[in-house]
Amino acid sequence: MNIGVLGAGQLGRMLALAGYPLANRFTFLDTTGHPSAGIGEVMIDTDRKHLDAFLAKVALVTYEFEHLPVSLVQAIEEVKPVFPSSEAIRICQNRAEEKALFDRLGIPTPAYRLVEHADELEAAARELGCPVVAKSVTEGYDGKGQAVLRDPAEAAEAWRSINHPRLIVEAFVDFVREVSIIAVRGREGEVVFYPMAENLHVDGILRYSLAPMPDLDDEVQQTAEGYIRTLLDELDYVGVLTLELFQTRDGRLLANEMAPRVHNSGHWTMDGAVTSQFENHLRAIQGLPLGDTSARQPTCMVNVIGQEGDPAAILAIHDAHLHRYDKSERPGRKLGHVNLLAKSHGELLEKVHACAWLLPEAPEPRFSFEDEFRQGN
Ligand code: AMP
Repeated sequence: MNIGVLGAGQLGRMLALAGYPLANRFTFLDTTGHPSAGIGEVMIDTDRKHLDAFLAKVALVTYEFEHLPVSLVQAIEEVKPVFPSSEAIRICQNRAEEKALFDRLGIPTPAYRLVEHADELEAAARELGCPVVAKSVTEGYDGKGQAVLRDPAEAAEAWRSINHPRLIVEAFVDFVREVSIIAVRGREGEVVFYPMAENLHVDGILRYSLAPMPDLDDEVQQTAEGYIRTLLDELDYVGVLTLELFQTRDGRLLANEMAPRVHNSGHWTMDGAVTSQFENHLRAIQGLPLGDTSARQPTCMVNVIGQEGDPAAILAIHDAHLHRYDKSERPGRKLGHVNLLAKSHGELLEKVHACAWLLPEAPEPRFSFEDEFRQGN
């Protein structure tokens, strides 16, 4: 089966790598003029003239990038099956829609307000109590289009720096850790869940994901599964969905955002789970049985950002798996990731520190459970 993918970055590349054993072939539609998939057939369509040719080649369409015009995805849906649907894209590309859906389904979120003027931003910061995080409702990703206000008096400056007509203002969550849950829903409505991951971000960019967490209560995993299941069922979703959450000191989960696609916080599954998120996405959209999502071993994904470091030294770490995206080095650019596996979380932490040391721009890894874990061992 030839699968059409909207977007042609590293997520598309890894989808294709997972699809070749299933005899899938891939045609990518890139609207940016800068595809990096480096695999399959890539059609560059910056002038919107090649859509018909793309659709003629593919049996069904999926995407690796959600910031696409909804009208484009709706037009494609008239011609070929699209999984997940344009409705998932419409909601996920707008933080206001996303939060409204969370509210409607009873999924807790940080307290928030929507504002359309600097004065309203100031009033919202006062009402919610500083610090607050202001985010553009659309087009933001990897921490871009955001500002933290420590005082309502900073509203005018934050408004100018974000420079967007509509913002969402959220109470700043004093979280213990950031976590995510990835689930997969098949065409018949069957759902499987991966173990949740703890995610370390620096400046809004994911640097490390670790799963399974050594200290996660089953109850918390089940709560997250309940939340993501209601989203999947509500959207009649097919494929991989990611829900990012904050875990608070009292063990509660607050939803931050969701992504209607395979996700960086699920890259650990490529080596650390029985079936990777990429393979399971492809199985789901083709109506095939979903694969086992359990973890093989404690696993940590380390993003390679900006500079490649020394790949040979990284590979010399036992049970280290390097996934390079074949991109040129540039500050802040995601160039690859390393999956580290170990028999115990103690051993895993040692490997993560050794790996971080080999990567020139990697920040210090600090997981929420480290201190407690060291004392206990
Ligand atoms: P986002 O683009 O919404 O995922 O935000 C990027 C990062 O900013 C998150 O991963 C958090 O580290 C931080 N952040 C976003 N919203 C909040 C919030 N309400 N409270 C605390 N930190 C936040």
